[in-house]
Amino acid sequence: MLKRFFFENVAQTSEKPLGIQIKNAKGVYLYDENNRPYIDCISGISVSNLGHSNPIVIEAIKKQLDQHMHLMVYGEIIQETQVELANYLTKILPQHLNSVYFVNSGSEAVEGAMKLAKRYTGKNDFVALNSAYHGSSHGALSLMSDPYFQHKFAPLLPGISFLEQNDITAIESLITEKTAAVFIEPIMSEKGYLPCSLEFLEKIKERCQTTGALLIFDEIQSGMGRTGEMFAFQHHHVQPDVLLLAKSFGGGLPLGAFITNKTVMNCLVDNPVLGHITTFGGHPVSCAAALASIKLIHNKELLDSIKQKEHLFRTLLNHPKIKQITGLGLMLAVELEEKEFCRKVIDQCVEDGLLIDWFLFAENKIRIAPPLIIENQEIEMICKIILKNLNT
Ligand code: PMP
Repeated sequence: MLKRFFFENVAQTSEKPLGIQIKNAKGVYLYDENNRPYIDCISGISVSNLGHSNPIVIEAIKKQLDQHMHLMVYGEIIQETQVELANYLTKILPQHLNSVYFVNSGSEAVEGAMKLAKRYTGKNDFVALNSAYHGSSHGALSLMSDPYFQHKFAPLLPGISFLEQNDITAIESLITEKTAAVFIEPIMSEKGYLPCSLEFLEKIKERCQTTGALLIFDEIQSGMGRTGEMFAFQHHHVQPDVLLLAKSFGGGLPLGAFITNKTVMNCLVDNPVLGHITTFGGHPVSCAAALASIKLIHNKELLDSIKQKEHLFRTLLNHPKIKQITGLGLMLAVELEEKEFCRKVIDQCVEDGLLIDWFLFAENKIRIAPPLIIENQEIEMICKIILKNLNT
């Protein structure tokens, strides 16, 4: 019955949704209505970094529920949990990233950052990377290079140029005096978990400093420990002017943020006043979950374990049909020869109780992004199922 209502009454986003009915979830497992377990190897696309139903996060949510829920639109009232979260976050970030604007989602973080960049620089153009996904709202969609996803929603924002990842030669001509901001994922997600080269990041940073553009890192997928550092940009020395977080940032509840320097952020304060506003952004219950979650992830033992877990995946996923494994930490992509075979392997894995997924712009790759708390034994199980299905 529920399945019928799902198809009849809940909006669909594709013709073939997974459509598995999940009753509860704990740790790295999701359980369907018959109590059949599925190992979660995608974490709701980089959301459940601590696994499902973490008791400390749940306790923090309950405590907040007892105190208060929504009080007032964002930015008007001092709310303890929100302030504590902003303070904790800015303490673990570079000094210049000291002001947090809380929003509801990744797309809204992108929108807020676009508006902020326009206000701060007085310019209107943006540069993004080819084959990146920054969100589904009009502004964020404008940063997507792919005509298939864009053209039915045209007209989108003008003045956007696309740079090929790691193409150093195009940086100077594309990032100009008219550029307000450059959007980069230090590790490109939907292109199939591909890290930007250090040289590319250094050259972009240099060019942004020369032209006065803001360098914005979208760490909506790569942040919160996913790559073995708290934030992916910490693998190098290149720091963003604005950092975007969402997904796992909320500890399982909806929360996003754009974070920058207080002087830059103050552009949203006047002329016009309320430069960006949001009713539910930084919801106290989301902030409570986020605060508990960030404290648990910001843990050396957990972050150090991610390198070893990556190594185990890379060692076990050794098969002639695997062309290469890209990515960093628990943000890995298994590259196969071609897309039809890849889809078949993914479908069979799901049938075998392993939730894995594909990428928007890398249809011959399998996404490996399990909760960070995954144990070696579960990694072995995941690899066994993938290898079995590569043989069919
Ligand atoms: N940026 C990246 C890198 C993402 O992966 C996503 C979501 N997949 C977004 C932005 C948009 O986030 P949301 O779905 O919360 O709007």
